[in-house]
Amino acid sequence: MAKDITKRSEDYARWYLDVISAAKLADYAPVKGCMVIRPNGYAIWEKMQSALDKMFKDTGHVNAYFPLFIPESYIKKEAEHVKGFAPECAVVTHGGGKKLEEPLIVRPTSETIIWSMYKNWIQSHRDLPLLINQWANVVRWEMRTRLFLRTMEFLWQEGHTAHATDEEAETETIKILEIYKTFAEDYMALPVIPGLKTEKERFAGAVRTYAIEGMMQDRRALQSGTSHNLGQNFAKAFDVQFQDENGELQYVWATSWGVSTRLVGALIMAHSDDKGLVLPPKIAPTQVVIVPIWRGDEQKAPILSKIESLTRNWQDHFNFKIDDRENYRPGWKFNEWEKQGVPVRIEIGPKDLEKDQVVVVRRDTGEKELIKMDQLQEYIAKLLPKIQDDLFNKARIFRDQHFYLCDDYEQFKKEIEEPAGFFKVHWCGKRTCEDRLQEETKATIRCIPLDNTIEHGKCLLCGEESNERVVVAKAY
Ligand SMILES: [Zn+2]
Repeated sequence: MAKDITKRSEDYARWYLDVISAAKLADYAPVKGCMVIRPNGYAIWEKMQSALDKMFKDTGHVNAYFPLFIPESYIKKEAEHVKGFAPECAVVTHGGGKKLEEPLIVRPTSETIIWSMYKNWIQSHRDLPLLINQWANVVRWEMRTRLFLRTMEFLWQEGHTAHATDEEAETETIKILEIYKTFAEDYMALPVIPGLKTEKERFAGAVRTYAIEGMMQDRRALQSGTSHNLGQNFAKAFDVQFQDENGELQYVWATSWGVSTRLVGALIMAHSDDKGLVLPPKIAPTQVVIVPIWRGDEQKAPILSKIESLTRNWQDHFNFKIDDRENYRPGWKFNEWEKQGVPVRIEIGPKDLEKDQVVVVRRDTGEKELIKMDQLQEYIAKLLPKIQDDLFNKARIFRDQHFYLCDDYEQFKKEIEEPAGFFKVHWCGKRTCEDRLQEETKATIRCIPLDNTIEHGKCLLCGEESNERVVVAKAY
């Protein structure tokens, strides 16, 4: 057991930070609330980026880049947007030693600057749809921060699309939500619930916000991606109109959507254990590490040469590393790679060499298996997808075990504390009940699931009629 990692059962919040530190993923920066993403953490983000980027491009989106600075007057053009974001904006008032004529906002999100440009780019229905994504950093002045989950500056992608009809914009919003769900489940091995946010939880300036919600190991929810139907709000604020097929001027319909480095936090919280990080193979920068065990040069040379021949064409199949460092003992190396979450470790010592076998160790279960060398490549090729599936299933079973129906508020107040989890409850749709729920229990309505069916019941709080259940949980 790694001594430098607090147990999950002892102190979950401390455990999370210990895992990050032991795996060398990130560090706090000199400016409070900012984060340094270390190479191990950044490599995970790059894996996420490349998978998502391909999914965006496969569905017709292209990348562009817009400036970090936004004129203050732009942020003020959409009333709800400014109300939502003004309190957490960083504002630049001076540049080059002089006071600026107009303060600049460091982007908290880019709708305003992008729609100011779309005004020039969109004139006719032939210019639509416009499907643009940008990979960027944003700044939101957060007071309570936590590495990856909530930091003042974070990395993300933000898609901003423009459409000729409301229907097209809604189709796009849902299409992206499905991409996020596929990415979370197929790559991160994190089961998520796609759903509609309530008005209270909606993005500032959106008509409808959808999100995917995952359950972490402390049974709290983590919103892991959002997709917004912005209606014509930004088109009206920036006067973006197009001539439709009948020659009439109409305001453009918009969407925006994003996922961020918060996903790295979700990944850590969903799968890691008391020994450190656990990574699903599809997101692991290194999938397999090979640790040779030798004493003296006469043992070393034949083992290294065997490893070389074994792994000759592996680069086409796996991301692997050979840890042949001289100045560390094998036991130290095992521990180190466990902390960093490498899904599979292979050990080869002199006795294994004699018997033409290796030891294969799974990071997720700790299971050890002796595998004949001539079967190794085939074995690893099957093991990696199996680990991927097992991690997903484990997370799904955990989530389902902590997913309850509840119709009694007194019972809910107890159960949200212990055992805690996701609760499906009836809600009348009123803001007062939603506010009261949060005040009294610290739990929030995470979403109205997209696959909901009509079910008649009584609001958990006020007892009035309700037609469907919503998902309630404590959240990050
Ligand atoms: Zn109610």
